[in-house]
Amino acid sequence: MLKSEKIYVAGHNGMVGSAIVRRLQSLGYDNIIVRSRRELDLTNQMAVREFLEQEKPSYIYLAAAKVGGIFANDTKRAEFLYENLMIEANVIHAAWQAGVNRLLFLGSSCIYPRDCPQPIKEDYLLTGPLESTNEPYAIAKIAGVKLCESYNAQYGTQYVSAMPTNLYGPNDNYDLTSSHVMPALIRKAHEAKNNGSVSLHVWGSGRPKREFLYVDDMAEACVFLMENDVKEGLFNIGVGEDVTIEELARTIMDVVGFSGEIIFDASKPDGTPRKLLNVDRMTSLGWKAKTDLRDGIALAYSKFLESHGH
Ligand code: GDP
Repeated sequence: MLKSEKIYVAGHNGMVGSAIVRRLQSLGYDNIIVRSRRELDLTNQMAVREFLEQEKPSYIYLAAAKVGGIFANDTKRAEFLYENLMIEANVIHAAWQAGVNRLLFLGSSCIYPRDCPQPIKEDYLLTGPLESTNEPYAIAKIAGVKLCESYNAQYGTQYVSAMPTNLYGPNDNYDLTSSHVMPALIRKAHEAKNNGSVSLHVWGSGRPKREFLYVDDMAEACVFLMENDVKEGLFNIGVGEDVTIEELARTIMDVVGFSGEIIFDASKPDGTPRKLLNVDRMTSLGWKAKTDLRDGIALAYSKFLESHGH
């Protein structure tokens, strides 16, 4: 990849897109184009088509998506399905029309069946029913994977799909009704400490297990896939180990410096019991996550303090 080739990062204001831009810039790529949501509505087919026809980037990172935690996914089911289908159908189809041969499509580990064997291999896709709390989002992302595969098969494009495990880091969403567990618990532990509370509220039983990847590692993996000229396929991006939500809460409390008790809120859903990714495919290409969970939480917390004050 030449450092001067035009690269479009869709979703550059989000946690993943902004990390990809940081990674590309740090490697010296100097022709990165971005558009805010106000400048380009990716659910608008004509607007997307005109933009890509005009710009004709050599590479696209498709990190734009409607995303959220278990509560948002479960309650805004229509938007999660509709907006994600529109964004990916518009961008992938218009990319092909504009002659863009290289694209990286980003999804999430929730595309895999709820009860599939752990750790989850890429081959388990479409082998069983999905977790219901995020089924609309997962269906949209599976459609995106299939769009990439289909354009590759029919038209010879090189559209690759990367499915990260739960991500966290700078520019995460700390809104408690729409966030994922990591930012939610960082914020709750921070506020509990500041308010002199005696307890931290954790949704569900605390027993589900989740795997967490620092977003800068994810961005590194995405650029790695592009730079290594991977032609097609689905790639799990994770760390290869998971923790229970209770263990996560205790580590966050420790990093934040809050030492109250945990109260589990059984009125909130647990979601899928476990979704640990098998990362052999990436390991065999030579990529491995670097950031340890505790270090990553400390980095995320310091960014949270910068952006959300004290
Ligand atoms: P999921 O991985 O799609 O289930 O999404 P989340 O990251 O939102 O939730 C992961 C797990 O953490 C679920 O079992 C949640 O019930 C649990 N959890 C515990 N406390 C919280 C919280 O304050 N917010 C969120 N979003 N999840 C929480």
